[in-house]
Amino acid sequence: MDSEIETEDKTDSRRGDIMDKWVCIVCGYVYNPEEGDPDGGIDPGTAFEDIPESWACPLCGVSKENFERQ
Ligand SMILES: [Zn+2]
Repeated sequence: MDSEIETEDKTDSRRGDIMDKWVCIVCGYVYNPEEGDPDGGIDPGTAFEDIPESWACPLCGVSKENFERQ
């Protein structure tokens, strides 16, 4: 029974991570998972972690490596 409680906790924290916003450290652009990046081919509701490595910042063009969690 104790293990069931632990499982619920992990699910909650993971759900929070998915909707985290990420900021471009070069230009300050904020990626919002709820909006995605339609112009860049990213559908609304896409977690930052699920964006393809080929994606680039829509404002300054740097890669995902230059973003950090807000
Ligand atoms: Zn940028």
